[in-house]
Amino acid sequence: MMLTRRAVLGLAVSAPLGADSLPEQSAGIALDRAFPDPRLSYLLTDCGASREICSRWAHPMDTVPVGSLVKPFTALAYGETHAFRFPVFTCAGAAGHCWLPQGHGRMEISSAIEHSCNAYFLELARDVAPEALGSVVQRFGLSAPDPGFEAATLIGLGSGWRISPFAMARAYSELVARSLDPGVRVLLAGMALSAQSGTGRGVGRGAYVKTGTAPCIHESKEGGDGYVIALYPTDAPRFNLLVRVHGVPGAQAAWVCGKMRSYVGRTPWSAADALVGMLWQS
Ligand SMILES: [Zn+2]
Repeated sequence: MMLTRRAVLGLAVSAPLGADSLPEQSAGIALDRAFPDPRLSYLLTDCGASREICSRWAHPMDTVPVGSLVKPFTALAYGETHAFRFPVFTCAGAAGHCWLPQGHGRMEISSAIEHSCNAYFLELARDVAPEALGSVVQRFGLSAPDPGFEAATLIGLGSGWRISPFAMARAYSELVARSLDPGVRVLLAGMALSAQSGTGRGVGRGAYVKTGTAPCIHESKEGGDGYVIALYPTDAPRFNLLVRVHGVPGAQAAWVCGKMRSYVGRTPWSAADALVGMLWQS
């Protein structure tokens, strides 16, 4: 049983809330056993170390469209040239090219992340400077969108901005690590709301969540691929779980992610686990 110093130290501060009680190899075995569906891909990493805990993902380094998972990074690029003051905008639904026909109504940045409002982000993306986007992309280790991109590309519509699942997961770990950077707090607040009452509510509260629906990249074509990323627990994020489900929207993938989360990160440590962990260090 491999336990890092970080894991043991983490235990000391977060034990009552329950850290991962599964040895890391067993986490992968348990997830593969409980979720054998080949339409499901997942990548579980350690938030702090950006180290893989376990995964089942055919080509996690290949770039793919990831839908609305790009939105927080587009928002940061907007913020760079707007003193991190984000717009307030009323979503009129289909008329404003939002996915919700009746519209989301008045949106601020946090509620726009919570509900992944396309109309809000299209409005914001029209005002993103390419240099600011370049700086965010570099800071978070993302690949850049195709040259000559349009606002729609910056909110994850179409296939013009392709990012590898591995890089996407790492960028979100970085976002959580930079919670004190300008503009990040409101984005994380929106992601926490997503888990409570937004598109990510299938994951359940206590996580930072973003969902996305992207054009399908599989050979057996479906309407789209649902993505969801969950970083938890919110008070000291340790796990970063990225999930893709073939042929469903991101909000539906969130329910699968929620079930997977119950296998990793919710079971309290036993005293025996703690002892083994400490002995391993000595
Ligand atoms: Zn909307």
